[in-house]
Amino acid sequence: MPELPEVQSLAADLRERAVGRVIERADIAEFSVLKTYDPPLSAMHGATITETARYGKFLDLLADPPASPANYGKLHLITHLAKAGWLRWRDQLGDTPPKPGKGPLAFRLKFEDGAGFDLTEAGTRKRLAVYLVTDPMAVPGIASLGPDPLAPDFTVEVLAGLLKGRRTQIKGVLRDQRIIAGIGNAYSDEVLHAAKMSPFKLASSLTDDDIADLYNVIIATLQSAIERSAGLAASELKAEKKAGLAVHGRAGQNCPVCGDVVREVSFADSALQYCATCQTGGKPLADRRLSRLLK
Ligand SMILES: [Zn+2]
Repeated sequence: MPELPEVQSLAADLRERAVGRVIERADIAEFSVLKTYDPPLSAMHGATITETARYGKFLDLLADPPASPANYGKLHLITHLAKAGWLRWRDQLGDTPPKPGKGPLAFRLKFEDGAGFDLTEAGTRKRLAVYLVTDPMAVPGIASLGPDPLAPDFTVEVLAGLLKGRRTQIKGVLRDQRIIAGIGNAYSDEVLHAAKMSPFKLASSLTDDDIADLYNVIIATLQSAIERSAGLAASELKAEKKAGLAVHGRAGQNCPVCGDVVREVSFADSALQYCATCQTGGKPLADRRLSRLLK
């Protein structure tokens, strides 16, 4: 799943490619993908892309529509790529609009010069979402976002305030978009590994020193992921993300810091990975799902 660093890089890549281009048409290939109906997608026809932006894990393309009686003002085409979604840029898209069907194609934006991009989603659970709005705050997932960890006003005091009194596991706190924007399952594993902190530690139990360490690690982890992916095209980002991860998605491999085996705890629809030597004093965490199966 694309998280803050990947979406940041997608926004930068699209800024280079799309700003100044004029939209010929937007097509839906998967009906459930479009979450808004006013303005209609046709309001984008003839609009010029002026900028790109990121809110948490949401990607925004800003466009100025041509003067029309409807007069929508600035348009925001906002995408959430969900777990298995991706953006593929094409210098030349075909002339035939996509047909709704069973393939991975969910949405296509085509520019007047023939270039454009596809939003695709692998698998059968369709979660990718597209919104066309005149104000990003009209997207519920954006309106409810917590502070962005890379914003200049995200200080260690802000983080301390977010964690204070929260008697929930730090892993869940880090990936809750309403508390902190942009960190998902992968980077929360990476942050906790770099901070040498158990994913099950209660947020409310962190000392001032723990919070200061965690703060520095969050910023450093996200920034180094962004630096690694800077200048990469959308097509290269996935491989780069995977190569840069120390523990996430690496169960059974060796921890790059201490050499211990990377372990995993499974949940109904996700799993976390961690290193017991680095993070939990050498003691493996209970995997409730596994132990239930063994009973
Ligand atoms: Zn380790």
